[in-house]
Amino acid sequence: MVIETDKQQEIYEGIEVPVANDLPEFVKAIRASGLVGLGGASFPTHIKFNPKNIDAVHTLIVNAAECEPFITSDHRLMLEDAEDLIAGCQLVMKFLGLSEGFIGIEDNKMDAIQHLDQLLAAKGITNIKTFKLQARYPKGAERVLVYEVTGKTMNAGVLPADLGIILSNVTTIAFVGQYFRNGMPLITKRMTVDGDAVARPTNVIAPIGTQIHDVIEFCGGYKQEPRKILMGGPMMGRAIFSDELPIVKNNNAILAFSKAQALVKEETACINCGKCHQACPFKLIPTALAKAYDMRDAQALSDLKVMQCMECGSCSYICPARRPLAFTNKLGKGVVKEAGIK
Ligand code: SF4
Ligand code: SF4
Repeated sequence: MVIETDKQQEIYEGIEVPVANDLPEFVKAIRASGLVGLGGASFPTHIKFNPKNIDAVHTLIVNAAECEPFITSDHRLMLEDAEDLIAGCQLVMKFLGLSEGFIGIEDNKMDAIQHLDQLLAAKGITNIKTFKLQARYPKGAERVLVYEVTGKTMNAGVLPADLGIILSNVTTIAFVGQYFRNGMPLITKRMTVDGDAVARPTNVIAPIGTQIHDVIEFCGGYKQEPRKILMGGPMMGRAIFSDELPIVKNNNAILAFSKAQALVKEETACINCGKCHQACPFKLIPTALAKAYDMRDAQALSDLKVMQCMECGSCSYICPARRPLAFTNKLGKGVVKEAGIK
């Protein structure tokens, strides 16, 4: 299908601020806005905001722990759109009947914490609080964040709602506030454009669907030939084959690296240093998992809890032998699934 635009970029006259009087109307409006989880997962937000156990959910956790290196778009949002963020929290808490809300922010963003604390105090809001997290990857991972804020352990396959929690990314919640302020559906995305191949790294807000090379052009273009372009951060982002791809809803970063930065050094033998185990937030044993994968031993992979691995990449990053441990775990999960082990 080819869409021919009139290139006018005018606002459609039918845009209206939504009105919601109860949860079904709120969920319907969120669905109409096109909102999905903007932190990366793209899970439809109207489904998240309509949990089966609605009477059991009580807490909102806003994930503002932007923990991957390079990415600063959520930080800018908290400084520039704090009013929408707070309004979004209040709307979600009101319609879902949540009694308390926490905005989890890393302690290297003290200006954002102070700004939000001041706004919350000025508005007399006491049931929403900022929650200071240590600035350490991967504090923004769902299970890690739930544990940090509530002390509750959440295994893979368990949903935050099962623990009474609605957990949503900071950009998603701020969009709710903006949508109920001006009625504009989700048509733009804020993202970080960075990497040593980009002439003028910056944070931008671009219409969804903009081609990546146009966004790079806006940031001064390439200052050197990009060897690797990532959609997302360096730990969990996806390498893309062309900058003609469009910006999508969950794009929080475009990173372009030169040959010197993107060069992957050759893998060497494991020296049994144990650093991968120490780096894992779930204390998995990546070396044992790698051995089990080499043997295609589905039972051993399952017993070693490969399905708990969230592929955060911390083990691969820390490994002095540059072993692709996170990727091996991804393949290992496939072995377990194929064997039909629950
Ligand atoms: S990728 Fe590595 S560090 Fe991250 S959860 Fe999996 S095993 Fe642990
Ligand atoms: S970090 Fe790398 S070298 Fe060290 S034990 Fe793990 S796999 Fe082996």
